Amino acid sequence: MSENCIFCKIARGELPSRKVYEDDEIVAFHDIRPAAPVHFLIVPKRHVASLQDVTAADIPLLGRMLALAPQLALEQGCRPGPEGGFRVMINNGVDGGQEVPHLHLHVLGGPRPWQRG
Ligand code: 5GP
Ligand code: ZN
Repeated sequence: MSENCIFCKIARGELPSRKVYEDDEIVAFHDIRPAAPVHFLIVPKRHVASLQDVTAADIPLLGRMLALAPQLALEQGCRPGPEGGFRVMINNGVDGGQEVPHLHLHVLGGPRPWQRG
């Protein structure tokens, strides 16, 4: 847990978000500045700064985050099958373009063209 971390605060319910999923370890919510018709973030509730900080103990959690992506993408309106689909993206560190230093998986989808990317 990190006191001034935005995503820790969202995970603790101290900042509002448009949640799409929550369990004891993971929360998912819409990105405040969507870059595609569907754009939400899958976030571990425990503060992990980036992929550069994960340990072997985090592997099951990472697996669960990744496995949630297709399920939640469909629920949020991404089209199934090869004609549909979605993008999963993780930015890490300054060179990786990471703005919020709490690990998060972007899920982007919906009909193209997208606003960015
Ligand atoms: P990064 O560049 O770190 O991979 O992405 C951070 C993402 O978090 C950005 O797409 C940004 O729009 C989103 N974001 C930043 N602050 C907030 C916030 O307070 N609430 C929500 N829902 N999204 C946020
Ligand atoms: Zn955090």
